[in-house]
Amino acid sequence: MHDVIVIGGGPTGFVTALGLAQAGVDVCLLEAEAGINDSPRACVYHWSMLDGLERLGIREEAERIGYTKDDYLWFVKKSGERLPYDLKVLSRVTRFNYNIQLGQDRLAEICRRRLEAMPNAAIHWQTAFAGLAQDADGVTVRATSPEGPLELRAKYVVGADGAGSAVRKDLGLAFDGMTWPERFVATNLRHDFESGGYWQSTMVVDDQWGAVIVKITREGLWRCTYMEDAALPVETYAERIPEAYSHLLPGEGGYELVQSSPYKMHQRCAERFRVGRVVLAGDAAHVTNPTGGFGLTTGLFDVYALWPTLAAILLDGADTGLLDTWADERRAIFLERTSPQACAYKDFVFHACGGGAKLEAALEGMRRMVRDADYRLERLMFTKGLETSSPAER
Ligand SMILES: Cc1cc2nc3c(=O)[nH]c(=O)nc-3n(C[C@H](O)[C@H](O)[C@H](O)COP(=O)(O)OP(=O)(O)OC[C@H]3O[C@@H](n4cnc5c(N)ncnc54)[C@H](O)[C@@H]3O)c2cc1C
Repeated sequence: MHDVIVIGGGPTGFVTALGLAQAGVDVCLLEAEAGINDSPRACVYHWSMLDGLERLGIREEAERIGYTKDDYLWFVKKSGERLPYDLKVLSRVTRFNYNIQLGQDRLAEICRRRLEAMPNAAIHWQTAFAGLAQDADGVTVRATSPEGPLELRAKYVVGADGAGSAVRKDLGLAFDGMTWPERFVATNLRHDFESGGYWQSTMVVDDQWGAVIVKITREGLWRCTYMEDAALPVETYAERIPEAYSHLLPGEGGYELVQSSPYKMHQRCAERFRVGRVVLAGDAAHVTNPTGGFGLTTGLFDVYALWPTLAAILLDGADTGLLDTWADERRAIFLERTSPQACAYKDFVFHACGGGAKLEAALEGMRRMVRDADYRLERLMFTKGLETSSPAER
């Protein structure tokens, strides 16, 4: 019998497994695919998340493999207004006053390598969760694998199997919320954005050609995320990229498209994050549109608080009721902070707030952020507010 089975080898699952294994818990991770998914997805770790990576002992490696930066530009396409700022003011509250850029697959990879060297950790690839049953002593997990059907036992199960979570469905939990009528298209490309006046993180505010444009590797790979009508056929999204780029790419010169990925956006949250010995974390528990990069941020904060809680229960006999506290707090963070702010940012960047007084008010907030360091600090603290400590450590 394992202590914990983690279902899903995305960033949330791998970070959970690493935290638990390093604490001394026996952990087994099941991933349906043959390897880590490397399609272009989340790639920013806000300054506020670096303490958690540091605690896991992987911040330095994440910085070395990725790269750090702290400059932001909000660019209003129609008026040409430029609102730049950086994160230096954060030195008042942290030594990590920058973000790390690193593909989420590479974060998972860092964890995978460490887990593979640990005797109390096992990873089963091509092993898909198929169902579970709970009893007084533990959970029986059924899975399919290349060797045939598998049954595993654990004291606790973490469902970190993404937005379509089979664990959440198996628990019969509702995933209430809404799906946006637009599709996001995440593209990785090479283009000389800097000579076009863009900073390393540039939010292009426009009601038609809004975009989030971010340099994601030291070597000059950029992410350009834009939006299109979800009623357009998804099969032909790639054929429309050149037309979109003709509006989105500043400056001179051509581009090299490296990877692209279309995706539906939702605001949804599971009705509960804990059912008995099973908990949900990351996209399995909640999904948001990615404007502002709060999706994975919230998922990692879920598990920064989860692994010490489970470790305390398993290793020190802490009260299992702590898992309810964890679950309630994380759900409230998503519903009350993550989701509303991600929606407000989507409205700002991709719809220019519908123009008029609402746009002016949003821009006035950004202008104040540029000129007033105290206010900048206050606004930058938002992502720290998505964190909750482990209830076992209070
Ligand atoms: C195209 C795209 C672009 C994105 N861009 C951004 C962005 O720029 N910023 C941002 O903040 N967020 C972004 N997101 C969202 C971000 O990627 C997610 O928040 C993040 O992946 C959540 O991590 P996770 O580990 O919870 O889930 P996932 O990364 O989805 O990982 C779940 C894992 O579980 C596995 N799995 C699924 N079912 C089973 C099963 N039955 N058994 C075993 N394993 C299973 C999957 O194969 C997968 O490896 C993007 C998402 C997409 C799709």
